[in-house]
Amino acid sequence: MKKIMSVNAGSSSLKFKLFEMPSEKVITEGNVERIGLNDAYFTIKVNGEKQKEVLPIPTHKEAVAKLLKELLAKGIVKDIKEISGVGHRIVQGGWYFSDSCLVNDDTIAKIEELCPLGPLHNPAHLIGIREFMKVLPDVPHVVVFDTAFHQTMPETSFMYAIPYDWYETYKVRKYGAHGTSHKYVALRCAEMLGKDIKDLNIVTCHLGNGASISAVKGGKCIDTSMGLTPLEGIPMGTRSGNLDPTVLSFMASKKGYTLEELITILNKKSGYLGVSGISNDSRDLEEAVSQGNERARLALDLQYKRIADYIGSYYVLMGGIDAIVFTAGIGENSPRCRRSVIDRIQVLGAKIDPEMNKLRGKEAILSTEDSKIKVLLIPTEEELMIARDVVRVAKIEL
Ligand code: AMP
Repeated sequence: MKKIMSVNAGSSSLKFKLFEMPSEKVITEGNVERIGLNDAYFTIKVNGEKQKEVLPIPTHKEAVAKLLKELLAKGIVKDIKEISGVGHRIVQGGWYFSDSCLVNDDTIAKIEELCPLGPLHNPAHLIGIREFMKVLPDVPHVVVFDTAFHQTMPETSFMYAIPYDWYETYKVRKYGAHGTSHKYVALRCAEMLGKDIKDLNIVTCHLGNGASISAVKGGKCIDTSMGLTPLEGIPMGTRSGNLDPTVLSFMASKKGYTLEELITILNKKSGYLGVSGISNDSRDLEEAVSQGNERARLALDLQYKRIADYIGSYYVLMGGIDAIVFTAGIGENSPRCRRSVIDRIQVLGAKIDPEMNKLRGKEAILSTEDSKIKVLLIPTEEELMIARDVVRVAKIEL
């Protein structure tokens, strides 16, 4: 029995989940938010109960120190050395990483080199890695990349039709995101259907505040909706998804925006928020729709329509679809989203049971017996995948 820590360090946050392996039991989990402020939040679950503290946490160093101190103070571990390995989530692994790997000088240098392609995330991940390595220097640290699962995409999926030199010199191509989640739910889908994943064509829909769709054929990703960055693909909470790039020069000429300002607007002020003018949260939009708000309806419909477009194109790409999986905040919790998407792809023979579709946050098969495509709800478990990879990559004996 070993304890494995799974870490997700963001620019001002640090999420953690401590697992007991091989049972995969969650020992504790929590979050440090608003790092850098005097009123940062530290949240931790003790015996299933959430405890929250507001305190100054100036940097990630103090965040890691606070977390370890509380693990001891609350008796969750008696000695920090009980933690046998740490897994770190990394958003951008670029062309270097097609699997998780041990942290060493070379890995760190590559993650650093990839910072321009993951400017909001990779620098924060590096701080998290360095701080954890200082306090736990004698255990293996493993990095798990959001992009790794997508490295099996063929050229025709990952290339953009741009001057070839942009690809050769600057590695401009699709990398995708949420790969750990897509991989987890695809594996779990095969288990739930009692089939070998090698025999399945699966479309995985990770629909959270950030959202992406993947085509998983025989267990391998062969296309995904996110691109060089997470801006590509379907409309999301605050991101526009695909659009004609000329919109940028047109709006620059109208309003005098810089390129950076325009990209920020497409990342932070578009999608649900931009179209509805209300919120980036699907719950707020669904509530507004129920009160007759037409722009909220449009914001949701723009996304649902585009999800259906991707499913249709992946149907053709894979030569059919055996299963569609819904996961992440919206996929797991919004019957409205799932119903609207499946209604739009009726021509493919997918049908869901309205009663089953009421379920939220629980594994279930939602499709009817006569549906030609199985439709599944599978809560994602990215942190568990990270913990499993620590055990596998670091060859930890259990
Ligand atoms: P995530 O990024 O995976 O945390 O997902 C965030 C999104 O999930 C937000 O748009 C939330 O509104 C949505 N979400 C979470 N819980 C629910 C729920 N019970 N009903 C509808 N949407 C939800």
